[in-house]
Amino acid sequence: VDRSRWAAEVKRPDWYLRLAGEYEALLAQARESPRALAQAIAHDVYSFFEDALENNMIALGTSGPEWDAERAPIDTAVIHHTNLEPGIDWRRIDAIHLTRIYARYYREPVPAEAAIRGKPIYSGHFRSERQLFVCYHWLIRQDGSRERLLEDDETGWHAGDWDVNCRSVGICFDGRFDGEQPAPEMTNAAARLLHDHYPHVSASRILGHREVNPTTTCPGDRFLDSWKEAITGSMG
Ligand SMILES: [Zn+2]
Repeated sequence: VDRSRWAAEVKRPDWYLRLAGEYEALLAQARESPRALAQAIAHDVYSFFEDALENNMIALGTSGPEWDAERAPIDTAVIHHTNLEPGIDWRRIDAIHLTRIYARYYREPVPAEAAIRGKPIYSGHFRSERQLFVCYHWLIRQDGSRERLLEDDETGWHAGDWDVNCRSVGICFDGRFDGEQPAPEMTNAAARLLHDHYPHVSASRILGHREVNPTTTCPGDRFLDSWKEAITGSMG
């Protein structure tokens, strides 16, 4: 990443069109690389956006479509994993979702929202002065603690399906769960979270991301045959 040139580009409202070729090529290179190199490339890209967000360097929208107006009563929980090393800071997830979810949507919006292409990116989610792009409502840590990210009246762009996004909470497990399953501390924490905050969500509406969107393996290849039951077993 040529940080000084990127820093100049992200000051322009359509930075995500101007830089897309470069960052998408880097992310594609990461996907084809051995893990250590892939992590180094991803770190290079996302630490740039994380720092740029933190230092208020990116041209962002102050208004835009009010997607949260379509928020519906929550009747669904969608389970994810970060598919990254555990211990990630929410600011890094924020940078990843800005780049991979919001920037991609603003480049190729649905026809009804075509007018947003080239406009500065706007999520409508704010904490104090800071605009948020993170798409999960909760993060479950490896020790069983939980962190609140989005509020329940905010729509997270996490499920890959707009109807499901509008009626769901996104709950993300911190770690990689392809080839292994989360410790009982984590599945117990998710069950407790659902019990405490979403007791009206039925077990049949607790879904892995892969059940909503079959193009992903999220939250890992053991979810359906092993640890889903540890979460849903205690729900009605
Ligand atoms: Zn997911």
